Amino acid sequence: MKITVVGTGYVGLVTGTCLAESGNQVKCVDNDTAKISCLKDGQIPIYEPGLEELVERNVKGQRLSFTTDLKSAVAESTVTFIAVGTPQAADGSCDLTAVKIVAGEIAEAMQGPQIVVNKSTVPVGTAELVTEIIQSKTEFSVEVVSNPEFLKEGAAIDDFMKPDRVVIGTRSEEAARTMRELYSPFVRTGKPLMVMDPPSAELTKYASNALLATKISFMNELSRLSEKVGADIGKVRQGMGADNRIGPHFLFPGVGYGGSCFPKDIRALSQLGKENGIDLEILGSVDSVNDSQKRVLSEKVVSKFGEDLSGHRFAFWGLAFKPKTDDMREAPAIVIAEELVKRGAKICAHDPEALETAREVIGDSIEYCEDPYEAAKGASALLLITEWNEYRGPDFDRLRGLLKEPVLFDGRNVWNLNLAEKHQFEYYGIGTRGSCDV
Ligand code: NAD
Repeated sequence: MKITVVGTGYVGLVTGTCLAESGNQVKCVDNDTAKISCLKDGQIPIYEPGLEELVERNVKGQRLSFTTDLKSAVAESTVTFIAVGTPQAADGSCDLTAVKIVAGEIAEAMQGPQIVVNKSTVPVGTAELVTEIIQSKTEFSVEVVSNPEFLKEGAAIDDFMKPDRVVIGTRSEEAARTMRELYSPFVRTGKPLMVMDPPSAELTKYASNALLATKISFMNELSRLSEKVGADIGKVRQGMGADNRIGPHFLFPGVGYGGSCFPKDIRALSQLGKENGIDLEILGSVDSVNDSQKRVLSEKVVSKFGEDLSGHRFAFWGLAFKPKTDDMREAPAIVIAEELVKRGAKICAHDPEALETAREVIGDSIEYCEDPYEAAKGASALLLITEWNEYRGPDFDRLRGLLKEPVLFDGRNVWNLNLAEKHQFEYYGIGTRGSCDV
């Protein structure tokens, strides 16, 4: 099939590349000329494991190309994906500006019937809205399909190639047939491809993200109680997660969720509720628990070193909102850095992939370091913020020699008290005073 993907970010680039890998002719379009020229030069603008090789192979195989020219790309395609950003508007709702602009441009470019697939995360009613925009500008017929994306940054290729499920929102049998054909290489192992009405598909995406964020905030809130009453949230998690009705996933406490999806999607769903006269109370709490959780690690630092942190330097391990990505959008590290810097602390941070993106967001208020041990030199304590695998088994003796004081604040419970004490560190985890392994 000839396919256009408009929006060549985390979702669009992965979608386009994976669809090319399964034999389609794909043009990835973006209005960011720097991004497109970088891709044309063979450089990948984001860090996503496995993506570079896959892009290279499909470009070489002439199945994948990049352009800023939406008009000619759409004119040659039968299916056009919309994968542009849908950021948060000032009132918390989903800002559909880019989706609407692209819908208008697609309509003006169409040279025949078209299936337009909405991959961006959008509120209920957007498939209808996009249909109206396109249909008001062209005589050609259009079917707008909702096809929300569930990939996780850091495992995006695998998630796209082997999805848990594919959700297709359409009332058109023909569009459903085309989508089944397109996705058949990815659901060969029997994973479900579910066809439903567009509103249900649109809501499925928000509902999924909202429940995942709820699990995180629930565990984060419980971790605070756990610490107070002398329980170990890690043990509680295991005990809960063994229950089949609960399951072990997404129960890890930490320094709060971030990223380009959970924060804005929770607020957009809340706003959608309000617009429809439903106060989604749980979501308000999920959001506010998350806000305060981002301050938990800095509060522990303040309890240990006092409100005035001038004269202290702290090492950060990890800046990205999660491992295996360079994405800094709404990363807890931003808040933790702010909280410490405003009290006079200096920070030296390491991240395996996100130093450049972090610099764009945090700026010069902190220092950036290419080597994790360099970052620890002379620091009053080390704060682990993102659980990159390379931080799991550090050379503790070397670390102790470099730090001014042997103090660890573990924002992801990657280590534990026993291990830290074995290496003569003072240890502060999340939701635990100590582990009582017997
Ligand atoms: P992104 O910001 O990485 O990419 C969006 C791209 O769209 C950018 O490259 C931007 O230049 C381009 N763009 C914006 N307006 C355009 C226009 N008028 N014409 C052409 N290109 C335009 O965003 P993302 O993370 O890929 O997210 C895209 C959508 O997918 C969002 O709705 C998001 O909520 C959703 N989503 C994201 C993830 C994720 O993990 N990032 C997962 C699932 C769903």
